[in-house]
Amino acid sequence: MKILNIASDKVIHFFYPTYCLHCDKEVRKAHHLLCSFCFQQIEWIDRKERCSRCWGPKKCKRCLHLHPHRSLFQPCGPILSLYQEFLKTKRGKTLASLIVVALSKTSWPMPDRIVPLIDSPFPKKEPLYLLAKELATLLECSVALPGPKVQDQKVLLLIDLLHTAEKLIDGKRTLSLHFPEKIFTMALIDHRLL
Ligand SMILES: [Zn+2]
Ligand SMILES: [Zn+2]
Repeated sequence: MKILNIASDKVIHFFYPTYCLHCDKEVRKAHHLLCSFCFQQIEWIDRKERCSRCWGPKKCKRCLHLHPHRSLFQPCGPILSLYQEFLKTKRGKTLASLIVVALSKTSWPMPDRIVPLIDSPFPKKEPLYLLAKELATLLECSVALPGPKVQDQKVLLLIDLLHTAEKLIDGKRTLSLHFPEKIFTMALIDHRLL
């Protein structure tokens, strides 16, 4: 029993660092990826600072209508450390939990399917697919790629790094070919410059 305890302790330390990913300060609990200070520094995007149509920079020039949409974070601060850690470990639970928090602040219905927006011949090997799976587990729904499975479903189209609204709009268009009931879009980190 004791060996088992020690072993599981070691495993925990292997998977979860004891130090904050962002500032290297010790964290209170081994499974915390960030110290409480850095966790509080994670800044959610303020909708008022964004264009109301496309969530891009407030004075956007070529405005594309992106609705309903949420962009969660700007590419700065501790969220980047969390994202890097996710790419390294492929463990997306913390990021998925932040997405759940963001969803809970919307009036959107619970999605039936999470669709990760991936351009790759092997989408299931992409980190974003894993993040979508973590999110689906938390929400008790399922992940799908564009195809018949999204028909008549409420779909959350998820992207991790958003560089252009066009990309999401193209993704929505492709998804629409399979007749979902409704598409909501969400970007974890929005790289469009303010
Ligand atoms: Zn820290
Ligand atoms: Zn705009």
